[in-house]
Order: sequence, then structure tokens, then C-alpha cells
Amino acid sequence: MFAYLDHQASTPCDAAVLAAMAPWWSEHPANPASRGHRPGLAAAAAVERARGQVATVLGAGPEGVVFTSGATEANNLALKGVAEAALSGGSRRRRLVSLVSEHRAVLDPLRYLERHGFPLSLLPVQPDGRLELAALENALGDDVLLVSVMAANNEIGVLQPLAEVAALCRRVGALLHVDAAQAAGHIPLAIEALGIDLLSVSGHKCGGPPGVGALLVRQGVELAPQLHGGGQEHGRRAGSVPVPLVVGLGEALQLAEADRASRALRLGGLRDRLWTALERLGGVQRNGPAPGPLRLAHNLNITVLAVDGAALHQRLRRRLAVSSGSACSQGSPSHVLAALGRSRAEAAASIRFGLGRATTSAEIDLAIDVVTDAVRELRG
Ligand SMILES: *Cc1c(COP(=O)(O)O)cnc(C)c1O
Repeated sequence: MFAYLDHQASTPCDAAVLAAMAPWWSEHPANPASRGHRPGLAAAAAVERARGQVATVLGAGPEGVVFTSGATEANNLALKGVAEAALSGGSRRRRLVSLVSEHRAVLDPLRYLERHGFPLSLLPVQPDGRLELAALENALGDDVLLVSVMAANNEIGVLQPLAEVAALCRRVGALLHVDAAQAAGHIPLAIEALGIDLLSVSGHKCGGPPGVGALLVRQGVELAPQLHGGGQEHGRRAGSVPVPLVVGLGEALQLAEADRASRALRLGGLRDRLWTALERLGGVQRNGPAPGPLRLAHNLNITVLAVDGAALHQRLRRRLAVSSGSACSQGSPSHVLAALGRSRAEAAASIRFGLGRATTSAEIDLAIDVVTDAVRELRG
């Protein structure tokens, strides 16, 4: 038996999502921009239906949904698009504010902008990964163009206080971007009610296909396109819209929202059982907040003290798909765990468990057995 417990790196595409996408690969060919014939109009209608699904789940208007190739592209469009619009629109605001624990798909575009004249303030986080509101308040002034704060962290599952962050941003007239790749379909997110200006989502983090995502943009936010071409998506993102993929994204988000609460309850129970069993080993510490309202229900991240990280993961690999950090950090030690004060060795001996809709109780039993055996063996 093998257990896939790396749903925060990628979720399997749901069967109902595959079924919804199926006809759009070959049965109904057509470019949704071809408005001159019936197949084109049918494709356009499918895209607009998906746009409505995405907007409804996220509490926004459909006109604000820009389909992209994923959350990485959505983040790049949001951050560079706002910066470029500020340059050409004559705004004097330049400063960008974010957190040290953001995903690299936010940090790297921000560092790119820093090299091009946009000063960057990266705020530290508290030991549980939460942003300190007082630190954010201190960093905010009328020179701040944009604040980027993720909804849920991909490694430690910590949720950030978005409503409070949005209120602080509004007070100084700064825009708020939220990377919600790990949150959309997993926690309630009502963009307009929360006061979020831009929000990124990803298909393959919520039971949808990879290679598709969306940026939600509040009306009135100036955004310079980063892909130029055929003027699709109201000129905000050129490129033929991939009909099957956006249909899959819409369906996945709608499905995720439909069982969101019951799924969180069930996975939270499995996650808590996993933690209780692993804590009994001794010398095991949890990274991120305690289970509860400040954490994703399907995430657990632990550091195993007094074992070698490489040897630990080598043993886990045979029976479990888990990770030692983010799937995107490519071998370097986790900057998120470092931000919590973990040493390189501790970060290497850390395990992220990401549970998902398909996770069973038997898989949690397996994970408990495999980690317990590996830790006992390595500790002699
Ligand atoms: C996965 C992830 C991304 C990147 O999403 P893609 O759709 O794979 O480009 C960005 N931010 C966070 C928080 C993620 O977890």
C-alpha cells in the first residue's frame, strides 16, 4: 500500500471534473473567440459559465475573473500589472509590502520589481506563522502601492487575518493582493466582503486540472496586461482561452465549495489523529498553529528532532508521498520553516502532510506506522 499525502503540492483531478471537461477536448471543437459560428458560441458560453462558477464561489462579480495558466501567472499579472499601471498612470506610490513566508510565486515577482525601482518590505512572521498586524500597520504609509498576503500557507497551513489586513490597507489607500492558491475551495473566501482587490487561484490545488488558474480583479483596479496578443479576457490576458481547462476549474471550485465544510471536518479529524499518534513518539514538534480556526484542516507539518532529515525522507518515500517543504523550493531548505526559526537540519527533518478529498483512514494508519518505524529505526 502507498499513500498520497501531498495534496498541497497538487490535488488529483476529480472524476466529476474530468467528466465536465471531457466533451470540450474533441466533441465540441472551437475557439471561444470565434463568435461567427455555433461551435464558437457554445465554447464561449462554456467559458462564461465557468467564469460564473469561479466568481460565485469567491464572492465576486464574473467581470472580474481573468483566466490564467495558474496561480504563478495570476500572481505575476497582479503584482507586475499593478506596478506597471502605477508607473504609466502617474501614481507616486512605489512601495510593496509582503511576508517572508509567502510562496516563491509571490516573492520572486516582488524581488524582480524591487530591482526595477519598487522598494520592497518583507515582514517577519510570529513563531506560529501568523502575520503581526502591528508590524504591518507600521510598514504602511501613503507611499505603499500594494500589499500581498497569502490566505493560507502551502507548507504550514496557517491562515492570515485577511479582513484585518484589508482594513489596514484601505486606511492608507494601498491595494491588497491575496495568493489564495491553497485557500480557494478550502476555506470561506468572499473577496468583496473582505475588501480584497486582487486574488489568485490555481486549478490543481482544489481538485481541478493543472495549467489553469484565475486572477480576480476588483472593479476599478488598474492593471497593465503582461501578455499581449489577441486581446482576450477584455485585454487583460491575451491568448486563446483553454476551454476544457477553464471548464474544469469552474467545476472543481464549485465541487470543492459544495463539500467544503464536511470535508474540512472529516480531514481535520484524520489530521488530528495523525498528530496525536506522532506526538506520542516524543521529540516531535508541530510547525504552524494548533489545529483550529487559524489553520487549514487538511495540513500538518512536523519537525522530528534528533534524526537526519535525508535518511528520514528516504525511508518515508517508499510508502508515502509527503514533502519536506514546498514542492517548488527545489531542494533548498524551506524559507517558511526558517522564518519560524527552524535550523537547516530541523527544516530537513520536517514533514508536510497534505490530506485531500480522497484520503482514507487506512492511509492515515499507514502514515502513522511508516513514520513511527522510520523514526524508531533512525533513533536506534
Ligand atoms: C501551488 C501554489 C502556487 C503556484 O500555483 P500554480 O498554479 O502551480 O502556478 C502559488 N502559490 C501558492 C500558495 C501555491 O500553493
